[in-house]
Amino acid sequence: MEYREEDYLMISSIQHFEFCRRQWALIHIEQLWEENLRTVEGEIMHKHAHDSDFTESRNGVIITRGMPVYSRRLGVSGVCDVVEFVRDDVNGCEIYQREGKYQVVPVEYKRGEPKEGLEDVMQVVLQAICLEEMLCCRIETGYLYYGMPRRRMAVVITEELRLRAEQKLQEMHDYYDRRYTPKAKISKKCNACSLKELCLPKLTKNNNVKDYIAGAIGENS
Ligand code: SF4
Repeated sequence: MEYREEDYLMISSIQHFEFCRRQWALIHIEQLWEENLRTVEGEIMHKHAHDSDFTESRNGVIITRGMPVYSRRLGVSGVCDVVEFVRDDVNGCEIYQREGKYQVVPVEYKRGEPKEGLEDVMQVVLQAICLEEMLCCRIETGYLYYGMPRRRMAVVITEELRLRAEQKLQEMHDYYDRRYTPKAKISKKCNACSLKELCLPKLTKNNNVKDYIAGAIGENS
């Protein structure tokens, strides 16, 4: 099965779904968003990673910034902060208009420190799956680059992570098709959630946020 382009979901949105299904639905189905320091800083860092939008060679590694990627099979698309092509004539794949063969390595930039959860990891795994489909290659490892400390962390693209990413994406397509917003499930994650004021978890355990806001406006008018 292949998805139509208009049904593609954003690769980056899997981080919201992995963090909290309701947060994902509030942002991507109900189109609610609240900026806080964490999200603004994250955006600035991504803009820097995408700024150059070019390809350069450094120490034999071809580095491409802001590369658009997609998977027809999974119905997802996005932009890779950085993709590195590392010369490997034995295990690599061919790249258009380049001599030799290359290992393909996605690198995702993140502000702050590595997280406890798999939000960031899922994003790299999806980028790898998209690149594999587009370039007919196999990707064993990607990287997450964190702002604090300035360090790379390897992400091994295991079968288990691939399966998890694909299952999450299927669930996201299902929720999106049904325009389904899960109910709030209060947890310690809510303290770090950029949407906690909009989610109103204590008040809306049984209600859709839009209905709640509409109800509140109706009552006051
Ligand atoms: S406040 Fe809690 S339940 Fe609501 S979206 Fe954020 S993490 Fe999810």
